[in-house]
Amino acid sequence: MDRRYSVFFIIRSLLWFIIPVGILGWLVGHFWAVLALALIGLLLWHYFYQYKLVDWLWHRRAMLPPRAPGSWSYIYDGIYRTQRRSQQRRRALVRVLRRFREAAEAIPDAAIVFSPSGGLIWCNKLGQFYFGLKWPSDAGIRLSNLIRHPEFIAYLRQADFNHEIHIPSPVNDDIELEIRVIPYGDEQYLLIARDVTQLKQLEQMRKDFVANVSHELKTPLTVLQGYLELLEQADSLSPAMINKAVHEMQGQSERMRHLVQQLLSLSRMDMNRHELFDKVVDMPRLLQEIEREVQQLNQAKQHTISFHVEPIHIHGLEGELRSVLVNLIANAIQYTQPHGVIEVRWQMVGDEAEFSVTDNGPGIAAEHLGRLTERFYRIDKDRNSKTGGTGLGLAIVQQALDYHHSRLVIDSVLKQGSRFSFRISQELIIPA
Ligand code: ADP
Repeated sequence: MDRRYSVFFIIRSLLWFIIPVGILGWLVGHFWAVLALALIGLLLWHYFYQYKLVDWLWHRRAMLPPRAPGSWSYIYDGIYRTQRRSQQRRRALVRVLRRFREAAEAIPDAAIVFSPSGGLIWCNKLGQFYFGLKWPSDAGIRLSNLIRHPEFIAYLRQADFNHEIHIPSPVNDDIELEIRVIPYGDEQYLLIARDVTQLKQLEQMRKDFVANVSHELKTPLTVLQGYLELLEQADSLSPAMINKAVHEMQGQSERMRHLVQQLLSLSRMDMNRHELFDKVVDMPRLLQEIEREVQQLNQAKQHTISFHVEPIHIHGLEGELRSVLVNLIANAIQYTQPHGVIEVRWQMVGDEAEFSVTDNGPGIAAEHLGRLTERFYRIDKDRNSKTGGTGLGLAIVQQALDYHHSRLVIDSVLKQGSRFSFRISQELIIPA
């Protein structure tokens, strides 16, 4: 609307009304009576449109005002315009709010907004998930009543938010949460909670790993040191004793060499991340080489080892695959009682290629099966045991298989034997 509502407009309209009425009154000879009647009419007309306005404002739901003539059209249109502007502003605000909520939902952490008195103002879905909050029904309730962990309550009470705290999730003890509070804006507080369970586990694994490596090295080193001290008085020792000492020392240093080699192998695989599809591994040739090598390992136990190998070539890393195959076959040789039967197979199963080593050894109790691929996990916990290795072998196997998108499967029955196998998926198999 571009019409101008001014004093001039009001005076002009009034004159346009009064002059014709005055002339008519003068012509009929009742000037004052006609004028009074016309003014009463004008008053009624104004009341009528005032009534329509009130009715529209209070009782009608329509956005559009009713039609009105003359000066009332300015009032109606003006109100309509103001209403539309505030509705647009409200819509824009709703849009901003929705975007803010969507952004807050998209962040991978729990977000909770609360007032200086600790009352819950808003929280995202992760906040509800980690803390069991219900929004909007919990709005206004103090956080310290909703999250009853003593450390958290003390943290809120002290209001020293320069550091973060760690507490378990109130709804799931297995989830460890790192909580930080950030004051912002007009006395508002934003609480951010992050799931640090995995980080904690990794930190624990790192500590365990260092402790395990130190322990593994400490035992042979202590033995070596003992024998070296003994050899200092070599004059008083019989040749048989010296021989025994040297033999033991060789055994222990071999154990350390093996451990270091396995650790290097693990860290090498951590770094090795080049393209899998560039390389082709001739598995039948590799298994032929390994068959020759394991005869050496088999000398003491004289197992019957048979190889059934289909001509399947795959994409992969030869060094890593060799260590997988050797580890699995060497374990079967090592843990099966003498004169056992070991079967090695490389064959197609459906559209996948499967490698398996089956033995008739002691088998493994079900409770160990899920943990065998953990670093340093051994069934025989005695570090000095003759049969016990380092507990790194199957961890190396799984890590190498991860790289080939495969998983070690262990089937075992106590006193009957074990079967270690893995499958290579169709995409990595080179068509014959
Ligand atoms: P280690 O260096 O001790 O051999 P591994 O990770 O290769 O470590 O094996 C973990 C444990 O799994 C071994 O300590 C052993 O008790 C058990 N194990 C592995 N292979 C066999 C098998 N073929 N038969 C029975 N037990 C086995």
